[in-house]
Amino acid sequence: MEYFLSEEQKIIKKLAKRISDEYVSKVAIKYDKEGIFPRDILDLLAYTELTGVYIPKEYGGFGGGVMEMCLVVEELSRNCAGVAVSYAATALGVYPIILYGKEEQKRKYLPKIAKGELIAAFALTEADAGSDVSSIKTTAEKKGDYYILNGSKHWITNGGEADVYVVFAVTDKSKGPRGISAFIVERGYEGFYCGKKEDKMGIRASSTTELIFEDCKVHKENLLGREGTGFIIAMKTFDRTRPGVAAMAVGIAQGAYEHAVRYAKERVQFGQPLSSFQAIQHMLADMYINIEAARAMLYSTCRMIDSGAKDFSKESSACKVFASDVAMKVTTDAVQMLGGNGYVKDYPVEKMMRDAKVTQIFEGANQIQRNIIASEIIKEY
Ligand SMILES: Cc1cc2nc3c(=O)[nH]c(=O)nc-3n(C[C@H](O)[C@H](O)[C@H](O)COP(=O)(O)OP(=O)(O)OC[C@H]3O[C@@H](n4cnc5c(N)ncnc54)[C@H](O)[C@@H]3O)c2cc1C
Repeated sequence: MEYFLSEEQKIIKKLAKRISDEYVSKVAIKYDKEGIFPRDILDLLAYTELTGVYIPKEYGGFGGGVMEMCLVVEELSRNCAGVAVSYAATALGVYPIILYGKEEQKRKYLPKIAKGELIAAFALTEADAGSDVSSIKTTAEKKGDYYILNGSKHWITNGGEADVYVVFAVTDKSKGPRGISAFIVERGYEGFYCGKKEDKMGIRASSTTELIFEDCKVHKENLLGREGTGFIIAMKTFDRTRPGVAAMAVGIAQGAYEHAVRYAKERVQFGQPLSSFQAIQHMLADMYINIEAARAMLYSTCRMIDSGAKDFSKESSACKVFASDVAMKVTTDAVQMLGGNGYVKDYPVEKMMRDAKVTQIFEGANQIQRNIIASEIIKEY
């Protein structure tokens, strides 16, 4: 399908596709099996300047937006969503700085992130605060010029690998969600440690860890926005990064579909290739229809966000839900189409099915997205 991307967007997509096909595809199975963080691929993305595509020009980036970020994520995900999420998690950590950072904070971090010299992470979730993020317990107590952080974070992508973490903590317990603030915490700050690394079902090349704060001193200069605006910062960030999860889902589904088509044309049963059986043809047709519908919704949402529209929570959540459900369906069908070969690690589709699952869970599980969409619909009419 023709999506009328700009010439620059086409170049970004083509470059990301080339890196994905020539480099990511070669390491995907090994990195998944051994849980290897794709530092080499991130370095390559930095070398080709794809790390800065969504960062404003005045801070050393290309000056693109959510669309450019999603095009890179989509292409990387065609071969390995674990690599893609390691790239996308920096965007999740950086958008709060782009949106709410003070000038000095932007000048300090964004140019280095654009160049790929620093990678970032976003730390909101806690063991007892997943879907219900407003119940986080990590505290930030103001003492003189510093905030003292205590508590722990769970499930943090790029944990242990990132240099810069945007961390959410309670500065005033009596105010509920309005008592949450966001801070920039650098690797190496005293009292900041990385905890357990998770042994995940999928996206195994990415690092997901606990973070621990024990009397961690963070200077007041590292407060993002104003005290008490942390919840809004998190929600406004998700509005811009949930399409990134949708892009991951579209990429995974596209990768699985391409493998399935090639396999169906090669594999012979009953004296004919699988692709000659109508039941298989219909599965391929449904894969195509669903992937293009998800991609169309994703790109429209990106265009809406990048146009400067004010409110797009509903669209952002909807494309995340739709694309992630498509990825789960398409990868499951791809495994089915490969039969026994779909179920073993010699072929990449079993990995894609494992990778797809998390797109229905993280950045707010799909049930929570449906709650957001419904509440926006009810407000509208
Ligand atoms: C691999 C991975 C990477 C992650 N990376 C990050 C990261 O970088 N930073 C970060 O801050 N977090 C991260 N997360 C956390 C992620 O956002 C949460 O896992 C997610 O929001 C769900 O929270 P939970 O796991 O605690 O599930 P729970 O909140 O315990 O929910 C369990 C189930 O119940 C459902 N449920 C809960 N409440 C409701 C409700 N009100 N109505 C209907 N259903 C409901 C959920 O949809 C879900 O299906 C990551 C998670 C994973 C798995």
